[in-house]
Amino acid sequence: MQTLTGIAASSGVAIAKAFVHEEPDMTIELKEIQDPASEVKRLEDALSKSKEELAVIKDKTEKELGPDKAEIFAAHLLVLSDPELVDAVKAKITGEKQNAEYAMNEVSSMFITMFENMDNEYMKERAADIRDVSKRVLGHLLGIEVQSLATISEETIIIAEDLTPSDTAQLNPVFIKGFATDIGGRTSHSAIMSRSLEIPAVVGTKEVTAQIKTGMTVIVDGLEGVVIVEPSDEEVATYTKKRDDFAKQKAEWAKLVNEQTTTKDGQHVELAANIGTPKDLEGVINNGAEGIGLYRTEFLYMGRTELPSEEEQFEAYKEVVERMEGKPVVIRTLDIGGDKELPYLDLPKEMNPFLGFRAIRLCLEEKEIFSTQLRALLRASAFGNLKIMFPMIATLDEFRQAKAMLLEEKEKLVANGVAVSDSIEIGMMVEIPSTAVAADLFAKEVDFFSIGTNDLIQYTMAADRMNERVSYLYQPYHPAILRLVKMVVDAAHKEGKWAGMCGEMAGDEVAIPLLLGLGLDEFSMSATSILPARNQMLSLSKEELAAFANEMIYLDTADEVEERVRKAYLD
Ligand code: PEP
Ligand code: MG
Repeated sequence: MQTLTGIAASSGVAIAKAFVHEEPDMTIELKEIQDPASEVKRLEDALSKSKEELAVIKDKTEKELGPDKAEIFAAHLLVLSDPELVDAVKAKITGEKQNAEYAMNEVSSMFITMFENMDNEYMKERAADIRDVSKRVLGHLLGIEVQSLATISEETIIIAEDLTPSDTAQLNPVFIKGFATDIGGRTSHSAIMSRSLEIPAVVGTKEVTAQIKTGMTVIVDGLEGVVIVEPSDEEVATYTKKRDDFAKQKAEWAKLVNEQTTTKDGQHVELAANIGTPKDLEGVINNGAEGIGLYRTEFLYMGRTELPSEEEQFEAYKEVVERMEGKPVVIRTLDIGGDKELPYLDLPKEMNPFLGFRAIRLCLEEKEIFSTQLRALLRASAFGNLKIMFPMIATLDEFRQAKAMLLEEKEKLVANGVAVSDSIEIGMMVEIPSTAVAADLFAKEVDFFSIGTNDLIQYTMAADRMNERVSYLYQPYHPAILRLVKMVVDAAHKEGKWAGMCGEMAGDEVAIPLLLGLGLDEFSMSATSILPARNQMLSLSKEELAAFANEMIYLDTADEVEERVRKAYLD
């Protein structure tokens, strides 16, 4: 037996025979063609066959997995009709006399490289879409049959270099018990799909395809991010138990969907979800979130060529507050810059984008962009329980300016007879150490704080959150971070305000006892973390943890804190 490690992408344990999904050989040679018109026709035939196939997959996905999951194929169909891509291929055929497959490969590779080099997860996903679509077209041009996973009809674990969205959509969870890939991260398409299909998955193992052959027995442990090849009988027994325990645990968690989150000593804590688009709402509702603690509105602005209109934004915000039926929805104003770029704004390149012209800094300068968003938010506030927060606040002056702009837009709307809620809470993210250290000053003027630990940790430790080499400094349990959290929560409470957290730390099982002890009021996390967190909190006493957490902030290291939490509350 052999153990391979990777990234835990989707929880659960699977044990079955492996099926190695191989990439077909798509060697492409450059040929000079004589008849460009018939070569263009060949391209068009391949495009229409691909469109037909995609339409079938889209329909099937829509029926079996719902319209949200099928949207990716609508996006693929759009790629196939995109004149920027198709015309560029045709130009190479007619202008440079290239054969269709070579031209297609050249153009799509150019687009893939362009998107991959963008320092932004969302855009990187677009590269995966183009790769997937062009593989389909090339398959037709080369006359290669691309292997189908849809026909597998016995319990199987798929092993692949990576799985494209169309591969993943073909997986039937009745037979496909799990998968493991060489590449990918927690936010790659295959990982996201595996979570919504609830198939255990481990991605980014680097070597599963090299080590595993079709027919070998494999265990995929999506809880720990481990793949075991040809396990012993003893291991099979251990993991069968782990698999069954996890299934039982999930059934227990599911019972908590309609419950409020209450600690052992009867205190209510709000468990909310982070979303990027209204499409995420299904998962939020299915997982029993008590609200939305962070709606990252920048996704509305990304993957397009111009700014979204006020109307378009209004519709999106309204949809979210309406579907949450009166539950709180905290919407964050535009947080662009840093790792999230908007090519159409054409901002100059910066040496340190994370320390540069981003988020509220940009909005206070580009007033038209900001006021358009503020109007859309104010109008949507009439349809539910909407709260607004500003990202990357460093000084009181920034908060005051942003709030003043909001109130000015509100006055104008009201004067024009537009309905606007008169109880919108206005808060801010605490992502910059200056605001945590001086939280007492801010607490007098804000309605709430939401601690963004993803950034707060990187700025406190001076360690870029995207840089692998300094990732050891990314220490959520470091006493320095815990002390900052304490300062924020205490300052809020002193002024009768509430404090939440929407960074990844809020859903972390080791952090949860500490944060409860420090008195955090609201925890906002990815939807799938909500039920396990609610379950964990049922057995924790806030009062007891207050003493524990106040002891932890005086320990020497993050490791010591983690060890103490595990020993006392997790093992
Ligand atoms: C954060 O910084 O913790 C946060 C939630 O914002 P983002 O991850 O979008 O920067
Ligand atoms: Mg942030």
